[in-house]
Amino acid sequence: MRLLIGLLLILCVFSCETKKRKKIEQIKTVFEKSQGQETATYLETIDFYIQLAKEFPEINIQIIGSTDSGHPLHMVTFNPDADFNFQKIGRNKNILLINNGIHPGESDGIDATMLLYRDLALKKIAPPKHTVVATIPIYNVGGSLNRNSTTRVNQNGPKSYGFRGNAKNYDLNRDFIKVDTKNARTFAEIFHLVKPDIFIDNHVSNGADYQYTLTHLFTQHNKLGGELGNYLHREMMPTLEKALLKIDWDITPYVNVFNAIPENGFTQFMDYPRYSTGYTSLWNTLGLMVETHMLKPYKQRVEGVYALMTKIIEISDRDYEKIKKLRERTFEAFLEKQNYPLQWTIDSTKTTTINFKGYEAEIMDSKVTGFPRIKYDRERPYIKEVDYHNFYTYTHEIEIPKAYIIKKGWDKVIDLLAINQIDYEILKEDTTIAVESYKIDSYETYKNPYEGHYPHFNTKVSSTKKRKNFQPGMS
Ligand SMILES: [Zn+2]
Repeated sequence: MRLLIGLLLILCVFSCETKKRKKIEQIKTVFEKSQGQETATYLETIDFYIQLAKEFPEINIQIIGSTDSGHPLHMVTFNPDADFNFQKIGRNKNILLINNGIHPGESDGIDATMLLYRDLALKKIAPPKHTVVATIPIYNVGGSLNRNSTTRVNQNGPKSYGFRGNAKNYDLNRDFIKVDTKNARTFAEIFHLVKPDIFIDNHVSNGADYQYTLTHLFTQHNKLGGELGNYLHREMMPTLEKALLKIDWDITPYVNVFNAIPENGFTQFMDYPRYSTGYTSLWNTLGLMVETHMLKPYKQRVEGVYALMTKIIEISDRDYEKIKKLRERTFEAFLEKQNYPLQWTIDSTKTTTINFKGYEAEIMDSKVTGFPRIKYDRERPYIKEVDYHNFYTYTHEIEIPKAYIIKKGWDKVIDLLAINQIDYEILKEDTTIAVESYKIDSYETYKNPYEGHYPHFNTKVSSTKKRKNFQPGMS
């Protein structure tokens, strides 16, 4: 009898498991159902993750904060140990955070990450031992709901997609440090909860034509600095390139050209903190933007992003101890530093030569505008040595102060300190402190607004050292 019950139990476990697998096999994404022609809408995307979370204890979906659209922001986590307490899991495992749909017209990452999560849950991809994957399925919810098929008309699919601006018409990839949107506030909340070791932000490029489907835009390694910058530049990036090539996915650095051809060389993009990877590198996170090439078919682009993310997970798993240690040491190193660089320029003494796979191009007069235009010829592919200017040097640095004193009325600044978990104390009594005080001597202002502001430039300040009395209540 006991044997029979045992057998029945085993049979049930097998058949239940098979049933579950069958059910999940049936969970196909919109991308798959449309043979790679379409991308999931906001509701379809969230619904898909809810279904996965119901079926698999390894997947958790939660709502964190709000967005300008009035809809909440979701975060979905995959952990083979089914533990979602980030304070605990971040101690022993690498956390990879994937951001999708910041520009919802560039939807490749949205669909690729849905496939990635399902295949991780089904163990089609070997579950990582030392990496937890978290994702924001669609960051720009408002833009995603503003669906159309004309705002990226020169992009080769999908059939329809969301709009670049968010519900406030802001470009969220310019808002990370200034935080004018609720989306950016919530991103900060997620970022400081998750404290990712590695960060991926998925995009689609515009501009030049070339043979590659995939391009990478790592955070600038000199700006990241020290051992961590070296690891990113000398180990992580080449390892990713080689691993992708092995599975027939060739990748090149982001082809950063504007009205120019790549064979004349190009420079690495400088990701200041208003951009996603610029913000994440402020906390010594290894950041990477993926830019697929807009002229390649949608199916191919999504498959490329999927392949890239699986390779990043492999690198994270293999190097998790090293990455943890390097990040820890970088945080410690900043405690000793005297100065902090703020502005950067290309270091013209160093370049990298890459064997670039491009297309021959010619300049001709446009029949539409009469102005010169570049025409690429796909019948004439080439591999040429191209100069890639990927070293930067700083042009301006500040002496790191012990602290800043903030007036009570500057509540916006205090608010930003709070959401970024930066410590501050409130003065409890009249206090005299020796300070260095800045005075703005002159500045110029842009004539046109930009992303909700009239930015200043050519700002000149003079500084004086003095003892000053501060009232209680200042931070
Ligand atoms: Zn983009």
